Amino acid sequence: MTQAVGMQAAAIASLPPLGSLPLARGTADRGSTFRITPDLFDQLWDQPETRILHLARRRSPFRNGRLVLSPVAEVERPENPVYLGSTVETTADMPAGTHIVLVEHEDVQPALAADEDWIGLRDAASDLPAQESGLFVEAVAISNWHATHTHCPRCGQPTEPIDGGWVRRCPADESLHYPRTDPAIIVTVTDEEDRLLLGSSAAWPQNRFSTLAGFVEPGESLEAAVVREVEEESGIVVHSPTYLGSQPWPFPASLMLGFTAKAAHARPVPDGVEIRDVRWFSREELFAGLKEERLSVASGASIARALIEHWYGGPLEEEPSAGRP
Ligand SMILES: [Zn+2]
Repeated sequence: MTQAVGMQAAAIASLPPLGSLPLARGTADRGSTFRITPDLFDQLWDQPETRILHLARRRSPFRNGRLVLSPVAEVERPENPVYLGSTVETTADMPAGTHIVLVEHEDVQPALAADEDWIGLRDAASDLPAQESGLFVEAVAISNWHATHTHCPRCGQPTEPIDGGWVRRCPADESLHYPRTDPAIIVTVTDEEDRLLLGSSAAWPQNRFSTLAGFVEPGESLEAAVVREVEEESGIVVHSPTYLGSQPWPFPASLMLGFTAKAAHARPVPDGVEIRDVRWFSREELFAGLKEERLSVASGASIARALIEHWYGGPLEEEPSAGRP
């Protein structure tokens, strides 16, 4: 671990105000200078300490609440492994500095031991230890990029992974192509009474509500995207967008950027296309609706849940307290 990486991890750990989000707890040293070593995977397959993170259909083997990270000697080297980084925490079975390599099983899920099971990132993200959650998020995100960026956007030739799997190169025109992430804003809008604006998507069950969200468009700032998306989806004009935190959401390639903003007026009008219903909720109304199961909101791993609870002042399972903001 370099000192800079240690400092970076410490800086991220202290980030307010949304705190530690389930998919944003990665701690690995991604080794951006090490991963460009020309014989990288020869070296890594020669070091018995190297561990393999397996992915098959975006799922990874899981045992007793932990990811199964196999010793490299047990895994045949595939054509295109990806270097995920080295660990910075020492665990019971793995010292800090262990190199982790992603091996993807494209067509068949390999057989597992009797006490192991395949698990998806959404199901595992909240419960895994931070180090493993971060490696799983990184693995799914880079795997999704490779799966959808197989050809050169300039000339259409198949490209080949280089630099530990973090760049794809076109052999015809030598152009280099880097992993992409799609920024999306997600926002809690409040009115003068500090009620929260929630929308129900046309694609969801009728009683499910969440914060408004949408992709940032080319040439647009995050703040402008907040104002535009809220106005498009709810008819509400907002001001003072304030950043609260972010987490990767690799389903398939989003980075969710959480904001809060204030409504300039209080009369929402759903767009009728993406959003079927949009309403103001007081803390008491939201608590009662959830308790009586007339409403549902986003699950634990999503930044939407964290944003709603940030406004609410605590876990949604608990009654709102008068002392909360
Ligand atoms: Zn090309």
